[in-house]
Amino acid sequence: MPVSEIAARVAAGGRLSPEDALVLYQEAPTPLLGRLADDVRRRKHPGNVVTYIIDRNVNYTNVCVARCKFCAFYRPVGSAEGYTLGFEEIFRKIDETIRLGGVQLLLQGGHNPDVPLAWYEDLFRQVKQRYPEFRLHALSPPEIIHISRLSQLPVASVIERLVAAGLDSVPGGGAEILVDRVRKLLNCYNKATADEWLGVMREAHRAGLRTTATMMYGTVETVEERLEHLLRLRALQDETGGFTAFITWSYQPQHTELGGTEATGVEYLRTLAIARIVLDNFDNLQASWVTQGGKVGQLSLAYGANDMGSVMIEENVVRAAGAEYCMDEFEVVRNIENAGFAAKRRNMHYDILGDPIFRERRVPRMLELAVARSDGRAGEADDLRDYEARSAAGRRAREGSKGA
Ligand code: SF4
Repeated sequence: MPVSEIAARVAAGGRLSPEDALVLYQEAPTPLLGRLADDVRRRKHPGNVVTYIIDRNVNYTNVCVARCKFCAFYRPVGSAEGYTLGFEEIFRKIDETIRLGGVQLLLQGGHNPDVPLAWYEDLFRQVKQRYPEFRLHALSPPEIIHISRLSQLPVASVIERLVAAGLDSVPGGGAEILVDRVRKLLNCYNKATADEWLGVMREAHRAGLRTTATMMYGTVETVEERLEHLLRLRALQDETGGFTAFITWSYQPQHTELGGTEATGVEYLRTLAIARIVLDNFDNLQASWVTQGGKVGQLSLAYGANDMGSVMIEENVVRAAGAEYCMDEFEVVRNIENAGFAAKRRNMHYDILGDPIFRERRVPRMLELAVARSDGRAGEADDLRDYEARSAAGRRAREGSKGA
């Protein structure tokens, strides 16, 4: 079918077939793709509001056995640069987040064999005791699979226990491209196959949790495989309705084993737009300013995004791969308003919480993103010594620290 006929079908609110999506993605001029995506956004969000959330991306450990080829963040078990945060360090981060108007932690980390399920349960319970209103958007599907393997419990049981301890929602990280050919090439097949990633999300939705979905493109995948990824998400959303939002970003190549170059801003906007058109059952699409910068983030609002994502406060993962953009709430709101929209704070469920917090009270400006530990210290926090370590290096370290 020619582009003009496919465009007319999209404009009429029709669903795209895989074949039509491919023609549109490959052949439609960028302004047309943007206009079609913008029409979809307007139909779903007829008001003139663009939302954002104030939260903090806390990476509780960088120790990881998965060794994905695109990752510059992880350190192997036993590395002198490996770290695992302690509860008190995480509580201090929550205190700072609340001071800046934040409402949740996005808590994700490496697949550390020396952090057992009990550690997560204790952490979540204590967070909920101290901060009953604060939300835990935590543990991507591959982390949940890792904990399931470590504890030898089914995924559904791990989710049930985490929810009982205080888990509120699940971030859609670790999806990369949900095609096993790609996952094998990126060495992320063993951490989670495409079916396993989707299976965790299905279980989370069954358990009543809302989750997000992501796509990292620009490594070794074909255009057809990007679309297969989107179509698999659309199919699961048809089944469960549990996804709140979709976020896509380009692979960040610096300091990674895979190397290569980063996709252009134009490719980002085209990919965002085709996602907005294909994912007709997703309410929300976020702009990824943290990888694309503020100005492309702002342009995203004309290419299908209705949300500027997170003010973030802290970020460690994409920064390790070369992305160093920082925007505090003031900057996020400025970009939204200069594009002609009203900026509103939201929570993970996309409920509007109010106007920008800096218009309600004084909040400090934040000119750079925080990191896991501001003094750059490595090593695991002392409170880890009370938990069972699985690796030989971890056991030795904990025995040594008990004797000290
Ligand atoms: S992307 Fe995640 S799972 Fe993969 S190596 Fe990095 S920290 Fe580990």
